[in-house]
Amino acid sequence: MRTEQPALSVVVPMYDEEEVLPMFFERMRPFLNGLGTSYELVVVDDGSRDRTATLLLEAARDWPQLRIVRLLRNSGHQAALSAGFRRARGGFLVTIDADLQDPPEVIAEFLAAVREQDVDVVYGVRSDRSSDTWVKRTTARMYYRLMCRLVGEEIPFDAGDFRLVSRRVVDAVNALPEDGRVFRLVIPWLGFPSAQVRYVRAERVAGTTKYNLSKMLRLAFDSVTAFSAAPLRLATWLGLLGGLLCCAVVIGALVVKLAGQSIPGWTSTVLAVGVIGAIQLLCLGLLGEYVARLFQSSQRRPQFLVGYDSLDDPGHHTFPE
Ligand code: UDP
Ligand code: MG
Repeated sequence: MRTEQPALSVVVPMYDEEEVLPMFFERMRPFLNGLGTSYELVVVDDGSRDRTATLLLEAARDWPQLRIVRLLRNSGHQAALSAGFRRARGGFLVTIDADLQDPPEVIAEFLAAVREQDVDVVYGVRSDRSSDTWVKRTTARMYYRLMCRLVGEEIPFDAGDFRLVSRRVVDAVNALPEDGRVFRLVIPWLGFPSAQVRYVRAERVAGTTKYNLSKMLRLAFDSVTAFSAAPLRLATWLGLLGGLLCCAVVIGALVVKLAGQSIPGWTSTVLAVGVIGAIQLLCLGLLGEYVARLFQSSQRRPQFLVGYDSLDDPGHHTFPE
């Protein structure tokens, strides 16, 4: 078990999930055992403070395929997924939530899709979001629209983090040196051939959402800043605009002064504030441009990824023997 590579790794991030854990295992265990492939279930305990850790250890006692990876502190859903990507050993990797909103049975459809269509990614796409509130649906739609624009690739709408990827994708994701990756954007961005499986997303079986507002905002900010320096560039344009406005004010003040209608002290005050304001805004914009460049090069994303090389293909010889 320790040394051999399982065919499938199922990665589950868990944060304070003691209420759903027993139900999750009850449904997952017979399903995985009935799949007929070797597997490991990698639970990433994202620094839970409740009895999750204890329940996991208990379950692992008579379940050798259950692997526990415990993070020292709560690092967030995407960071927990990153840990799972690094630790999983399977030839295929499925990520799934612990709260049974994503039905485990759909994994069988993922595997079928991968066998039939020879793809590297199978997205689970929610065919019905009626279990979500109106606010969540609307903000989600805005999010996916914006992200399609920024990433420049087709982001499957309503695809969360329930998906299957091949080992090639896992290695490509792990090779990205950037932090704060948003999996639902990075994986489409990599550009591997993909398929989609539609499923109905259920309600959370127990407990409450572990995604509070601040975590949701974090995801939105990470999504935008990972793919765009536009907010930083905004500083340049604001700086230019502010600079022009300041020039206009300064000229206006001088004209008023020359016309002799100025209150004593007013012109010099406007001049001082205007000139300094303009210089500051322009410098800030300039700084923004440099920070944007630094940011982009610090991500060190690969310029390209090779999907196929005939040299690696045993059935296709391009060179005479
Ligand atoms: N989760 C996590 N760390 C966090 C927040 C959430 O590992 O800081 C896990 C959580 O246990 C669940 C998954 O991420 O397995 C999705 O979270 P949740 O179901 O609460 O989000 P929602 O479905 O409400 O968007
Ligand atoms: Mg959920």
